[in-house]
Parts: sequence; C-alpha cells; structure tokens
Amino acid sequence: MIFVSCQKTEVSLVSMEEDVTILASDDFEGRETGTEGEAKAAAYIEKRFADLQLQPKGTEGYIQKFSFKPSSNPHQSPELSETTGDSLAQGMNVIGYLDNNADVTVVIGAHYDHLGYGGSSSLHAEGEAIHNGADDNASGVAMMLNLARRLHEEAPNSNYLFIAFSGEEMGLLGSNYFVKNPTIDLDKVSYMINMDMVGRLNEEKAVSVSGVGTSPVFSQTLHAANHCELNIIEKESGVGPSDHTSFYLSNIPALHFFTGQHEDYHKPSDDAHLLNYEGMEKLSSYILAVIKDLDGRGKLAFRTTKNESEQAPRFKVGLGVMPDYLFSGEGMRIDGVTEGRPGHKAGLQKGDIVKKIGKTDVVDMMSYMQGLAEFEEGQKAKVVVERNGELIETEVQF
Ligand SMILES: [Zn+2]
Repeated sequence: MIFVSCQKTEVSLVSMEEDVTILASDDFEGRETGTEGEAKAAAYIEKRFADLQLQPKGTEGYIQKFSFKPSSNPHQSPELSETTGDSLAQGMNVIGYLDNNADVTVVIGAHYDHLGYGGSSSLHAEGEAIHNGADDNASGVAMMLNLARRLHEEAPNSNYLFIAFSGEEMGLLGSNYFVKNPTIDLDKVSYMINMDMVGRLNEEKAVSVSGVGTSPVFSQTLHAANHCELNIIEKESGVGPSDHTSFYLSNIPALHFFTGQHEDYHKPSDDAHLLNYEGMEKLSSYILAVIKDLDGRGKLAFRTTKNESEQAPRFKVGLGVMPDYLFSGEGMRIDGVTEGRPGHKAGLQKGDIVKKIGKTDVVDMMSYMQGLAEFEEGQKAKVVVERNGELIETEVQF
C-alpha cells in the first residue's frame, strides 16, 4: 500500500497557484520561444529550481540552449539547427536534477513556452493579444515544481531529472533537442512523465493518460495508485502532440497526463483564475503515487505502440518500419525496421528516407500512406530511398 495524501501538503513554500499566476501574467508576454518573455520565464524557473536545491543539469547552469530556424510560412514548422547564425533564433530548456545516487533516473517534464502574442497556432480571431497560457502549460510547470518539492524525501531508489521544455508549440523542438543532446546518460532513464495542460480537472475528474502501452507495467500501476477517485482514461499510443513523443521515439517508456480541451485553448483567455487548483493537488498526488509505486523496480521495459492519432488512408500492406514523426524534411524517414517484415527483407535501414513507393512520390507521412494504399498482399513495389545522400532503388515484396 502507498499512502499519499490527496490534500495540500504541509510544507507549502510556493503553491501551484502562485507559480501559475506568475508564469501566466502579462509580464511574461505569452512566453514565446526566442523572445524576452521566454527568457524571463526561464529565469523564474531557474530560481525555483535553485530554491528547491536541485543540481543544475543544463550546459550553462540550469540552461540548455538550442538553435532553430524560425519559419515565415505558417504551413512550415521551424526546424532545429546544429549551427548558430544570423537567420537563426535560440530557445532554452531549463534542467534540474535530484540525485539520490540511484541506478536509474526518472525524467519529469513540462513545456513552459506558449504562443506569445498569437501567431499561426492561435485560435483567436481578433488581432494580436497576449496568450497567457495558464493551462497550456503553466499548469504543467507548476505541477513539475510541486513534484520536485514532494520527491525530496520520497521514492529514493531513483534519481529525478526535471526539465522545463521550450519550443514545444513550434513542434517539440526543446524535447527533440534534449534527446539528441542529453545531459545525463539516457540509457539509465527508466521512464518519462510529461504534463501538458493539467489545470482543468472537470467534475467527472477525467484525466487522459497517454503512452500506457509504452511499458507493460503502466496499466496496473495507474490503477493501483488511483485512490483519489480520478477517472483515468488510458490511451496506448506513445506518439501524441506533446514532448513525451520525443522520449517514446528514443525507446523510453513515457506517460502523458492531460485534463482535457476547453474553449480557452490557444486563446488569450487561457488565464490563471480559470484553473482548478484543488484538482491540481489531486492530480499531483496521483502522479506522486504512480512514481512511488514504480520506485525500486529498476529500469522499466519498453514497448512500441500503435499510433492512434493519425487519420490515415486505408492500406492493407506495410513495410514493417517505424516512421520518424519528427522528421520535417521531404520524404518519410525510417526510425526503425522490424525484422522479417518486407522492408527488412528488401534491405531498408534505420535512417533511410523513403522518396518513392511504386508511382507515388513520397513527400510526407500522408503521401507515404497513400503510396502504400496502392498495393495489395503478394504484390511487388519499387521503393526509392535516400541513404547518405544517395538514391537507392529496391524491390519490396508485400
Ligand atoms: Zn501545451
């Protein structure tokens, strides 16, 4: 049995409400990546990490900077860049570490960036206005800070890495950069917890938990830890529109907590006074109970899941490869090849970029699936892939 109070904890240094109210105030101008508002928010989180006695685990103290190419075209996402230069902007993750000298580390993350004054992701029709992003995602950051405090004396068989990601709204830039440039040994990461929009627990107490299929132990734990009468809605898929996806695609089990959509989503009216702070205390206690239940079990086993989120054309055949959903270049980059399946037999490799299937030019995920939809079991198809800059043609037997 695990005992965690569903009520407010005694030692309340800074409440979640205070953190949300500060991060979602007009002072931070909507925390858009690459702006002064982002830098102000990062500085606030740095100070909170220091007060919570977390070790700095960025590359410059708590900060890990990344460069990206901003996009002027609303249909094209900004891209990470390896270099720095005039046409590039910078974002920053904020990273703190609670070291218990344990063999495994649990990553607990939430993005702190938001839409600034609007931009192409805004659902606000009437001109520019500060998008405060209280639920999206000051709520997740506040809950992460709350867990950082509560985990000081609890669950000592793991270390904890707390990451406030930036660049999420631009396409998971910060988390993508982190898994490619980790500041700890990723092989020792047992699992990841992501919180994105956790401030609007409704009367039914419905909490969506995605990524339940990414480790065989999750489902059982989510039930065992639920003594706060939450209504847990399990989703299998490790791929979704938030930062847990970056970890899942790096073969790390990942859970994403979310209290649901609302009419203020991506609008200037997503404000601090509309959040359910009692609900946040409940959910934070629940996540703490999940972490305690998983503590001492060593590194969790990883499992791949089906992707439930894509509305795809119907196809009867497959290559047996895992697409890289974060690849933003032209084509479909392969992130993994299943042994014995058609792609493997035809010599396809991780990192290959599929350019053509039969007569269909592959430019993105959708055209990739359209290409597959042209074929039936037993047929053969010419497939063109780019490997190390060279085009290679091969024949696949479905
Ligand atoms: Zn968000």
